[in-house]
Amino acid sequence: MEMWSRTVVLLLVTTTVTCTPLINELEPGKDWPPRNSVKQPSDYEKETSTFAEKEEVLPTGNPIEEIDEPEEVVIDASQPILRNADSWERKVDYSGAQVWKVSTERVSVLGVITRLRRRNLISTWGGNHSSIDILVKPNAIANVTRVFQRERIPIDVVIDDLQQRINDENPPLDANEIELQDRRGHRMTWKQYHRIEDIHGFMDYLAKTYPKIVSVNSIGKSHEGRDLKVLRISDGKPTNKAVFIDGGIHAREWISPATVTYFINQFAENFDVETDDIKNIDWYFLPVVNPDGYEYTHQTDRLWRKNKKPTRSARGCVGTDINRNFGYRWGGRGSSANPCSEIYRGSTPFSEPESKALSDFIKNSAANFTAYITYHSYGQYLLYPWGYENAVPADHKDLHDLGNRMAEAIKQTRGSSYQVGSSSGLLYPASGGSDDWAKSQGIKYSYTIELSDTGRYGFILPTSFIEPVARESLNGLRVLASQVAKA
Ligand SMILES: [Zn+2]
Repeated sequence: MEMWSRTVVLLLVTTTVTCTPLINELEPGKDWPPRNSVKQPSDYEKETSTFAEKEEVLPTGNPIEEIDEPEEVVIDASQPILRNADSWERKVDYSGAQVWKVSTERVSVLGVITRLRRRNLISTWGGNHSSIDILVKPNAIANVTRVFQRERIPIDVVIDDLQQRINDENPPLDANEIELQDRRGHRMTWKQYHRIEDIHGFMDYLAKTYPKIVSVNSIGKSHEGRDLKVLRISDGKPTNKAVFIDGGIHAREWISPATVTYFINQFAENFDVETDDIKNIDWYFLPVVNPDGYEYTHQTDRLWRKNKKPTRSARGCVGTDINRNFGYRWGGRGSSANPCSEIYRGSTPFSEPESKALSDFIKNSAANFTAYITYHSYGQYLLYPWGYENAVPADHKDLHDLGNRMAEAIKQTRGSSYQVGSSSGLLYPASGGSDDWAKSQGIKYSYTIELSDTGRYGFILPTSFIEPVARESLNGLRVLASQVAKA
């Protein structure tokens, strides 16, 4: 945090102290920035139509979701719109859609995949230097199979009916669990993926139950007006370092909010018996950065990724990739200027209310943020900056070393392997990410963690994975906490 911004915050705190909602009994000076000090983006900047001219280059060797193909220049209203033309009422049906793992050992594969995607026959999920997971649309399966056969590209069908997997992913709780929910005072479990209402209710419950250490504050609103709720756990010691953790930037990555809420539960419910490392940190959690997208994945389209703010696209495309909208090296490689792209970066840096609120909060906070971790899925990677290009910060050895130790703790839990490296080096360039921005603000330990799995289920990870994934992730987080506590 820069000194001047702290001074500004202090001024704001002293001048508006009477209207500051005091949420818990923390000592003076350890209060949150007053609600009004976090500005809301009321001005949606005028969209420029530069996307038509921009031609993006396919980075060599890493053909994945985040890679943008050159977009069609022509805006044609008669073209089929990929997904978001579907109304709120009608659920997107993925019956017969398949997910294939395609080896990318041969360079020509990238070109084939780009062509298929441009023809709207496939979309890409995840991948790395050696393979890529693609979603093949039901009516394109025969066609795409022929293309791969002709090119002699081997494929492996990982999911043979995507809708079936979606149907099986998040079954209702059994009667026992529901009874437990009623007795507990909140509805959150780690046996199900919950709606935003349950997550927020759980956070409020903890603040009410443990007012001395837990407080909840809305740091802003999403485009559709949902609260961006941050929960803080702190014993108020002035010497505490601070850690910011978020999840759910990408709507469909359900394991991420589930994992972040698991951490919250662990620390809040067991604070007295927690380690000194945990107690010597002020923890800030924003489990769902993108609540509009998250709700949309529950109600309408399980595979929605972006937020839900309309764009000025002539084709009516909706949503910006919040993780391409942060204002450090915004607009570079691995992001798109086309509003119809899954990695649309938005019209300007921080054009989206969600990224704006998050960054304003961190900038204006008096907390001494030493680490920022953002949880995503999938792939099992521990990634540090930079994302915008294949370069690393000066202290990359520290980041790599801590990353390795976290990965080791995760592995010790139940054998899961995480790869550690810089995002651009290990995966692909992606500019405008929240981790790059956090690092640019002087937050030393900035990581993006891609949770499980490595592609067997991909985004549609069954609920039986929640506890094991969250538990091993907590062990990784403990290693970070011990580093931060002594930093
Ligand atoms: Zn993600």
